[in-house]
Amino acid sequence: MTVPYPRLLAPLDLGFTTLPNRVLMGSMHTGLEELPGGFERLAEFYAERVRGGVGLIVTGGVGPSPEGATRAGGALLRTPEEVARHRVVTGAVHAEGGRIALQILHSGRYAKAPAAVAPSSLRAPISPVVPHELTAEEIERTIEDFARTAALAREAGYDGVEIMGSEGYLINEFVAAETNHRTDEWGGCYPNRMRLPVEIVRRVRERTGPDFVLIYRLSMLDLVPGGSTLEEVVALARAVEAAGATLLNTGIGWHEARIPTIATVVPRGGFSWVTRRLKGEVGIPLVAVNRINTPETAERILADGDADMVSLARPLLADPDFVVKAARGRADTINTCIACNQACLDHTFAGRTASCLVNPRAGHETLLRLGPTRRAERIGVVGAGPAGLAFAVGAAEAGHAVTLFEAADRIGGQFLMALRIPGKEEYAETLRYYGVRLAELGVEVRLGTEAGPGHLRGFDRLVLATGVEPRVPAIEGVEHPSVVGYRDVLQHGAPVGRRVAVLGAGGIGFDVAEFLLHSAGTDFYRAWGVDTTLSARGGLVEPRPGRPAREVTLLQRSPGKLGAGLGRTTGWIHRTSLRAGGVRTLSGVVYRRIDDDGLHLTAPGPDGTEPVEQVLPVDTVVLCTGQEPLRRLHDTLLGTGHDTGAVPVHLIGGADVAAELDAKRAIRQATELVAALG
Ligand code: NAP
Ligand code: SF4
Repeated sequence: MTVPYPRLLAPLDLGFTTLPNRVLMGSMHTGLEELPGGFERLAEFYAERVRGGVGLIVTGGVGPSPEGATRAGGALLRTPEEVARHRVVTGAVHAEGGRIALQILHSGRYAKAPAAVAPSSLRAPISPVVPHELTAEEIERTIEDFARTAALAREAGYDGVEIMGSEGYLINEFVAAETNHRTDEWGGCYPNRMRLPVEIVRRVRERTGPDFVLIYRLSMLDLVPGGSTLEEVVALARAVEAAGATLLNTGIGWHEARIPTIATVVPRGGFSWVTRRLKGEVGIPLVAVNRINTPETAERILADGDADMVSLARPLLADPDFVVKAARGRADTINTCIACNQACLDHTFAGRTASCLVNPRAGHETLLRLGPTRRAERIGVVGAGPAGLAFAVGAAEAGHAVTLFEAADRIGGQFLMALRIPGKEEYAETLRYYGVRLAELGVEVRLGTEAGPGHLRGFDRLVLATGVEPRVPAIEGVEHPSVVGYRDVLQHGAPVGRRVAVLGAGGIGFDVAEFLLHSAGTDFYRAWGVDTTLSARGGLVEPRPGRPAREVTLLQRSPGKLGAGLGRTTGWIHRTSLRAGGVRTLSGVVYRRIDDDGLHLTAPGPDGTEPVEQVLPVDTVVLCTGQEPLRRLHDTLLGTGHDTGAVPVHLIGGADVAAELDAKRAIRQATELVAALG
């Protein structure tokens, strides 16, 4: 029998231990570390991923000292009590036969605390804190903090540590001349600037012994002005190897970089070419990272010789069984990470527990249990958008007999539009996943069926996920032939002229503007200014976005910045992209009318002066003005006495709350309903 993904599933011999495959679960801060009872939840979170076949887990970052923690009160490993708490995690991982390394992360000037420290007292562009410049004595103490934390990690049962040397944190700040203005032995020439990471690795190895995994996360592409050159990266890689590292993991981009590194716009496996440049320069195995979300991508990276191992982080939130599914040759059943960041990084940056849009159980394994049902029912589900799909699959997995009705000839609902947006093509994977699961679970799917009361007789329970309809605003002339809805544009290919006004600047307004601007063949690296030859310092060159296909104006009635409600970690990408496409934005407008001359409106004058009447001479006006819930069926059923208690009727997704129409909420609500059925 041929082994699927033979390189991905091949063991990796580290000398003193052998990893079962090439999958490293990359470090993710879940937020559980700081919650009461969080270590028990973390233990189950990791144990589930070990059962799913992961070769080596790296934990979220733990600070080596209070000032190095990500924020005041952030996770540390210093006391016997903390060692005991970490043993809950390592014990659970080992009980399942897994391996786990603790990431030691000193946040440097990124720490969200007034006591932040750095090589020089220079504020980061993304932080309000001016850090304290470390003295030579404090640097010595910091090295000791790393070594002591590593020794305690070993005592707590970890199989290794990862020293976080990338993403613009303390170690990275020492390495880059831009952030290190010191004149002592820790600054100035490159050997001085890289002294800190090398000394940390040497001291950690000394304290933990030869049979302990020591991963160094090396910033191979800083993507900030004044970042390292390839020669410097190679020199540091060699020095870190000589100091005792076992594996070299890749870091791409500092947090303050203005180039997307993991969002959906980044091509799959789009940075493995960086890791490849280290091949032959060091003898230890190299780990490639970022946007490796399918076994095919991982296998290609390994087959091309870009790296010896791959790091998957978010894809293991989306599907803990990624590896075992790949090993069974059933990659088509993997719930793929769509790189939206909506429930993982956006939560982390908002101080909330990380989870996953397509898998709300992630980070909530002990709370959201979906075992087999004790009482199987016949359930009718209406609507095959994200909410209906998530419920139908979850309920069928629990053992219910499910029939799914969908008026369209395809499953997907709003996702069918999302996947048409440039850079959101990954949404198709979620529909592939649900399609495969529905078939496997024997769910009866009745496409092209507008379900009415007649269809819904004979069920024990009804779940209505009938979605939304676009809101048509009360603007004079809204019926003018130049006006189209976003659905007409994205789903039905309505023609759109060269000059366009997009009304409404929510997620959909931004998406539609992106869709209308897009010129075929835009190259990600060229558009964002990534130097793929690695000859420029920091890997930065002048961005060269493609020529926009149209002249777009994006408008909203509310005052203030457009896109304020977009994702915390992705909103800036959308705003930058529209700016690069020359999109004009207007806020605080009053729409007057639409006629043959275009869109008449009143907009605030420059610098807040009196509002000015104007006409935008546009060919097309696209309405992206929100949604209303579609509850006709629900109302009809109530009228016919369906919801008398004998047949419970549930309303979920956008049909329940359109104002928050959002796939994260829809899928979570559907999954919680499955769990609540017991
Ligand atoms: P939305 O975020 O509620 O935005 C609707 C826009 O229409 C607002 O800019 C609103 O701004 C305007 N509007 C509302 N009522 C109006 C009226 N009567 N007349 C004129 N303008 C009106 O809704 P959406 O853009 O349709 O997105 C729906 C949901 O889809 C979002 O909440 C989001 O969860 C999800 N989504 C997310 C993304 C993403 O990037 N994460 C992308 C696509 C969709 P003013 O009232 O200020 O004019
Ligand atoms: Fe991936 Fe989105 Fe889930 Fe994050 S929330 S793991 S980006 S699918």
